Amino acid sequence: MQDLDVRLQQLAHKRRSLPEHAEIESLTKDLTQLRDLLVAAQTEEGDCAREQTKAEQDVDQVRQRAARDQQRLDSGAVTSPKDLENLQREIASLAKRQGDLEDVVLEVMERRESAQERVTELTGRVASVQSKIDDATARRDTAFEQLDGEAAAVTKEREVIAGSVPADLLKLYDKLRGQQGGIGAAKLYQRTCQGCRQELAITELNEVRSAAPNTVVRCENCRRILVRTAESGI
Ligand SMILES: [Zn+2]
Repeated sequence: MQDLDVRLQQLAHKRRSLPEHAEIESLTKDLTQLRDLLVAAQTEEGDCAREQTKAEQDVDQVRQRAARDQQRLDSGAVTSPKDLENLQREIASLAKRQGDLEDVVLEVMERRESAQERVTELTGRVASVQSKIDDATARRDTAFEQLDGEAAAVTKEREVIAGSVPADLLKLYDKLRGQQGGIGAAKLYQRTCQGCRQELAITELNEVRSAAPNTVVRCENCRRILVRTAESGI
């Protein structure tokens, strides 16, 4: 039963310390960071898109106004030299304004394009990290399945043995196991307790030797239940 309990402990420890746990944790951190960057890039792309629309509308307005002015000029309806001069001055100023606004459009388009590139790049990286997480999760779950299956079989085996152990002895064993790092019963091997590795004193040895086979004997030093075998050296 002690062997089975040790095995169960080992299985539980193995389950807790699978390398996939650390792998998934670190990848999940990466994913969170990448998603934040992606959201930022998407937001910037959206902002640029709105800025572009606005800048293009500005260009359009100026162009329309310039076209109207040009039409008035060409129509010959304006005859006063002063009005003509004003009109021409306005057309020239609108042309300059249009050029400036077109520069703004170009600058926004460049920013938008680089934001789009970042969105594409980050989307790819998010997908790649996500697929690594999926892969590690699948490996972890396969390991869980195997370890849990083995633990279930060992537990069943333990139940069978526990059924044949007297209740008070079982209680003592479980209590000692809780106090002594999972080892409640140890073999007495060549006069040495395998629980604490202490050799038994002569008087203690004599007591063990004279005890009936079904008497529960315990180590003087660590208080664990001593299991006598042919190799106990008594
Ligand atoms: Zn001991």
